[in-house]
Amino acid sequence: MWSVGGCEALTDTMPMSDESPVTEISVPTGSEPILPEAAPAVKRTKRGVPEGLWIRCDGCKATVYKKEVEKQLNVCPECQHHFYVSGQKRIEQLLDPDSFEEWFTDLRSVDPLGFVDRKPYAERLKDEQKRTGLREACIAGRGYLRGRPLVFALTDSAFIMGSMGSVVGEMLTRSIERATELNLPIVIVSGSGGGARMHEGILSLMQMGKVSAALARLHEAGGLFISVLTNPTMGGVAASFASLGDLILAEPNALVGFAGPRVVAATVKQELPPDFQTSEFMQKHGFVDRVVHRADLRSEISRVIDYCVR
Ligand SMILES: [Zn+2]
Repeated sequence: MWSVGGCEALTDTMPMSDESPVTEISVPTGSEPILPEAAPAVKRTKRGVPEGLWIRCDGCKATVYKKEVEKQLNVCPECQHHFYVSGQKRIEQLLDPDSFEEWFTDLRSVDPLGFVDRKPYAERLKDEQKRTGLREACIAGRGYLRGRPLVFALTDSAFIMGSMGSVVGEMLTRSIERATELNLPIVIVSGSGGGARMHEGILSLMQMGKVSAALARLHEAGGLFISVLTNPTMGGVAASFASLGDLILAEPNALVGFAGPRVVAATVKQELPPDFQTSEFMQKHGFVDRVVHRADLRSEISRVIDYCVR
């Protein structure tokens, strides 16, 4: 067993759940993600409608048929609101079927501070793993997108808000280094309600610099990094790798920024524009290159790869 800046490699692996436990819920920022309890599959109301067939859209407040939403890649058929997508689902949506080969599955966070808030950090990690079916807030590996080989990584905002603990930072750094070695483009889809993982203190903060330095080396080697921002991309994730893409794409109406709007408003003591910190606002101000509908992400990314990679 060995240790790399706050995380260590274990020999045992935890099987990943194929089912996405949290497809229908969007994750609010500034608070813990609200996630559904495992609902009994056959519980029915008096009128004979099975529970969980309909969901309420956060965008238009309409009650929409869940199957229809899922068919449209978790986008509301009424208003095009983009719902949260779990890491596993995201891989299915973006990459070619069965092409993803997962890397770094043996990395686990250590608990250098012996941190306890409402519960000990070690216990929190175990609970989050059970609840989300993820090992950590990051999934990384290689795969194919419309036949183009690439390195692919994502952060999932459902796992401790997608915060960049040492395992997340280490996985992203290694992915970028492998992309550099293998001369492959790298795509990172970020979802994070907060960047730093306070449970790991300074080790978490150091990940920002580590990942950014790896991206600088990729850049020097002439590599291509496409950053895809999803709702929400905030904090140290937004302030490091997510903003360093050669090309930065964002899903519509995603919350993108560093501190949340309330904190910013209280700090600058000014009224903020209504679309403040949305993907569209960020595009208008030069932080995002293109806002891309989820249904167009595959074609858009493959087009960029074709244009940039020779
Ligand atoms: Zn809607």
